[in-house]
Amino acid sequence: MIVVMDEGATESQVQAVIDRLVEREFTVHRSTGVVHTLLGGVGPEDEVDPAEFLVMDGVKECRRIASPYKLASRHFRPGGTVVKAGAVEIGGERVVVMAGPCSVESRDQILRAAEQVARAGATVIRGGAFKPRSSPYSFQGLGEAGLVLLREAADAHGLVTVSEVMDSTQIPLLSRYADILQVGARNMQNFNLLRELGKLRQPVLLKRGIAATVEELLLSAEYILSGGNYDVILCERGIRTFESSTRNTMDLSAIPVVKKLSHLPIVADPSHGTGRRDHVGAMARAAVAAGADGLLIEVHPDPDRALSDGAQSLRPEQFEELMQQLRIIAPAVGRSV
Ligand code: PEP
Ligand code: MN
Repeated sequence: MIVVMDEGATESQVQAVIDRLVEREFTVHRSTGVVHTLLGGVGPEDEVDPAEFLVMDGVKECRRIASPYKLASRHFRPGGTVVKAGAVEIGGERVVVMAGPCSVESRDQILRAAEQVARAGATVIRGGAFKPRSSPYSFQGLGEAGLVLLREAADAHGLVTVSEVMDSTQIPLLSRYADILQVGARNMQNFNLLRELGKLRQPVLLKRGIAATVEELLLSAEYILSGGNYDVILCERGIRTFESSTRNTMDLSAIPVVKKLSHLPIVADPSHGTGRRDHVGAMARAAVAAGADGLLIEVHPDPDRALSDGAQSLRPEQFEELMQQLRIIAPAVGRSV
């Protein structure tokens, strides 16, 4: 804990802070500068709220030194983590492309989607069976029937599956059909769900909440890791800002930020990040250039008739063209697609 005293802080104010730090079992290192006095406390940082010191007379600033997450921190595994899902490795040299429709809608739709994305080079197929829709009147997903179809389509083309789990009661069902369980943006801070996923020994793709900081994303990952499940993949999918030309604001800077702070792989979802198929390609290319370990892209055989997120879903031929571009971009940053 670092406490910076005000310019005009009196000796008795400094002493009061030192006494409080000692009372809280910190060892105090004092540094008296020309203008400010700095107090460095070494001790049980996690148990003490910096605000307790911030409100004391004569205190200008108070900050923790260590990050609030431990297992998600880069220090825990400096070499990085590679998450294995079937034959696919996320976090290795290869940029993993996960593609498919927003929702599983029918057997024909998902079989066609699987064939199209596999042919273009994706190794993971996405498709929601339980959909978190803003309106209760919108298509909510096919449920278990959708998961059965997703599995059939994936197996027919040797693909790994990712699908969203909306609450903890769905975990047994999802883990039977999906290789990777997706936690959607709206559930990033559903701590009961995260704790339950911590008990699982299956990869979890954790999406950033619409108004979550990177630190909050990493703290949510910590919930899963602290349960003993180390197979967590993070996902930047855009955050809500004042900008209205895109559905969300794709925060590409989160990619290098996460890489520095954490050992966990991070993938980018330019579909939800922009909400418009005409911007998806640019952000996908930029995400790979920025160091993303993978992409999550919505692709639909007939997006104009999609039951959810059609406007942001690529047409199969657009996806194929994007994959060709990614094969040129990835080697420039030491990766392959
Ligand atoms: C999705 O992947 O279809 C989805 C609902 O994503 P998000 O949780 O990021 O909105
Ligand atoms: Mn979607």
